[in-house]
Amino acid sequence: TAQAPKQPLTLKLCAPRGFCAGVSRAIQIVEQALERYGAPVYVRHEIVHNKYVVDSLKQKGAIFVDELDEIPETDAPVIFSAHGVPKKVPAAAASRGLFFLDATCPLVSKVHKETILHHRRGKEVVLIGHRGHPEVVGTMGQVPDGSVHLVETVEDARTFQPKSPEALAFTTQTTLSVDDTAEIIAVLTERFPDITAPHREDICYATTNRQAAVKAVAPTVDAMVVVGAPNSSNTQRLREVAERLGCKRSVLVQRADDIDAASFADFATIGISAGASAPEVLVEEIIDAFARHFDVTVETVVTAEESMVFGLPRELREGVEA
Ligand code: SF4
Repeated sequence: TAQAPKQPLTLKLCAPRGFCAGVSRAIQIVEQALERYGAPVYVRHEIVHNKYVVDSLKQKGAIFVDELDEIPETDAPVIFSAHGVPKKVPAAAASRGLFFLDATCPLVSKVHKETILHHRRGKEVVLIGHRGHPEVVGTMGQVPDGSVHLVETVEDARTFQPKSPEALAFTTQTTLSVDDTAEIIAVLTERFPDITAPHREDICYATTNRQAAVKAVAPTVDAMVVVGAPNSSNTQRLREVAERLGCKRSVLVQRADDIDAASFADFATIGISAGASAPEVLVEEIIDAFARHFDVTVETVVTAEESMVFGLPRELREGVEA
């Protein structure tokens, strides 16, 4: 029997989307460590916020732990995740004689250095970010407890009382909403005109570019599908951006199985993006899921080109003796 023709559906792929330089580097560090030192390698926290990535590395011999005390006495390398760690973590690893490799994204390390510098110069640091996110825990943990004031919202920025209003500086999480952060900064600079800002914005190029691509595509589509994990900050922000720009439906999906493609039948165009920790294979899987139900046309909307690449830690560079 002849099948009814499928309904047409245009998929607009936001570019850039998916992996950033910091995520690629972090995954490469685990893979190279496995190759160079053999399994197992220990990884503190999800190396990046993506279950598919974590599961594939587990299969290759990576063991994920929440804290160092879950790791037995071992010569195996211990890797810190891309989000960065409080200073006490490498200190504890060193005191146990563990061999560790740091996969902290260099753009997160930049925020760490700024935070330390402001603190050393006697400034009270305001960190704009989400409480409990590992990156925020890592950044706050660069300086003694109580020396960073976390601001999460415009309301926090309006009401918080600094100890030293004349000596303030701010830094931010790298994966925030560009627009929300601009509002928070506007409130801070209005209240404290002398507050020191980062030389270069702390929100990273990948977060900025992915949000800009979703902003360009969202007004031209009925719905937006963002591929990524619910605990990934930059991914959640992409979903929000599309929702605020009027997409009738803006959803976050981890795998094609999470999506009921048929339920998108009311829409003629759907935008697709992916958070910085989501591999492209998952985007392809979701396009395939739509293609099973619809006659899909795939377009790519390019709003920026990216060429950022970060080098590996010294221990993993070629020619360096292990
Ligand atoms: Fe680094 Fe930005 Fe990627 Fe985070 S999202 S790993 S800060 S490049």
